[in-house]
Amino acid sequence: MSGSQPKSSEGRLAEQHLGDRLSALVDGELGHDARERVLAHVATCAKCKTEVDAQRRLKNVFAEAAPPPPSESFLARLQGLPAGETSATAAPR
Ligand SMILES: [Zn+2]
Repeated sequence: MSGSQPKSSEGRLAEQHLGDRLSALVDGELGHDARERVLAHVATCAKCKTEVDAQRRLKNVFAEAAPPPPSESFLARLQGLPAGETSATAAPR
């Protein structure tokens, strides 16, 4: 994914919108203090609250679209079974 968004120069406003911290919040990557500050901003900023909701929904979509982990038998085949013991089509007991 290309996540290059044009950023306005920082430091002009005392209170910035969340920007990158927004996804960090959704991913649970913020420290306690930063999280408190971000949540406080979201509580007072409808724009950022909408963004947080959208990001959370997006994250759920990705979670559901993620492929399931490989099965144990597949991993066992990758590691290589002892020769002569079994074959890929052997029925489990
Ligand atoms: Zn905001």
